[in-house]
Amino acid sequence: MKLESLQLQDFRNYGEISLTFEPGVNLIVGDNAQGKTNLLEAIGYLGSGKSFRAQKTGELIRFGADFAQLTGQVEAQNRQQSLRWVLFNGSRPRQIWRNGVKKKTAGEIAGVLPSVLFCPEDLMVLKTGAAPRRRFADLALCQLRPNYDAALTEYNRILEQKNRILKDHHENPALLAILPEYDARLCQVGALLISYRARFFQSLGAAAGAYHGQFSGGAEDFSLEYKTVSSVTDPFAPVDTLRSQLQDHLQSHHRAELESGQCLTGPHKDDFDISLSGISLKSFGSQGQTRTAAISLKLAQRALMAKEFGEEPVLLLDDVLSELDPGRQDFVLNQIESGQVFITCCEPGRFTKLGKTIEIKKGNVIA
Ligand code: ATP
Ligand code: MG
Repeated sequence: MKLESLQLQDFRNYGEISLTFEPGVNLIVGDNAQGKTNLLEAIGYLGSGKSFRAQKTGELIRFGADFAQLTGQVEAQNRQQSLRWVLFNGSRPRQIWRNGVKKKTAGEIAGVLPSVLFCPEDLMVLKTGAAPRRRFADLALCQLRPNYDAALTEYNRILEQKNRILKDHHENPALLAILPEYDARLCQVGALLISYRARFFQSLGAAAGAYHGQFSGGAEDFSLEYKTVSSVTDPFAPVDTLRSQLQDHLQSHHRAELESGQCLTGPHKDDFDISLSGISLKSFGSQGQTRTAAISLKLAQRALMAKEFGEEPVLLLDDVLSELDPGRQDFVLNQIESGQVFITCCEPGRFTKLGKTIEIKKGNVIA
């Protein structure tokens, strides 16, 4: 799929802007804080309804504005398509249109403009805490499987309500009567998440291992391990088995959860680790090994999406190339010969041989 043009209104630091893009490489240059990352964020959001950095929709709306609008024309599934989002401040729900028809959920636009974002923080994702790794996996899996996206939203909603009960039950003991209902639902939806994740990590690990092997000359044996709730003996087990194992686990933590006032266990604590020849990257990986593995994971994510949708997803490289040594830069660039790519960087002229250059200054295009 290719994003042919994009119009933004009051999105981040953009007032009103209209852009056209190349089907190949688009280089977005500009000084710091001019709006380069905001532009990549807009492209990612247009296709997924998710931001890789905003916590709340309101952050995406230009300071002082009431709403933001994103519109894009896309060539996907062998035809012209259009996507449009209107985002509001406060609690008013956002609106989505695909080809002029209003849609209820982001899942209904899946596959029109999937994207993979790669930024410098991702290079260290295998070394940080578990939360950025979960975010990495969730962003990828939500785009691949709209049903996963819906389940995750539901899980987080129940989790938030359960946390509220756990916090308030001292003052309002009657709340405890409804806790089993929340637990049951949490285990049901949680089992579904584990089931999706097990399959996703299996394919991701296989694809990433192939890239890693190419890059490192096959010297290291790459393996990805999905880590979930300890009572789950096999994440590939039928969903009902997973559900009852989660339920057992919750029961054994019941008292501790009441005492601590928070939800202690469940797939919201899931993680994954990569080992090279049996040695955990998280604990022992060198910086170079960690970076190469992260690049392999991102390329793998792109490959899984290409396989799922039959077309290359859009690749968004935010400042990442300038962070890489020439060998790793070449490796990434050689892998992205096809498909549409957006690359941001601060130094004009650095990668200009690659394609069209768009220069951004204070939320405006100057070239
Ligand atoms: P760098 O090279 O440092 O990464 P950048 O060009 O990627 O810079 P962006 O992250 O896109 O910069 O941010 C540009 C500016 O947008 C920042 O100065 C930020 O304060 C501003 N900004 C972010 N959100 C909003 C918003 N909701 N309304 C107005 N301005 C915003
Ligand atoms: Mg930036």
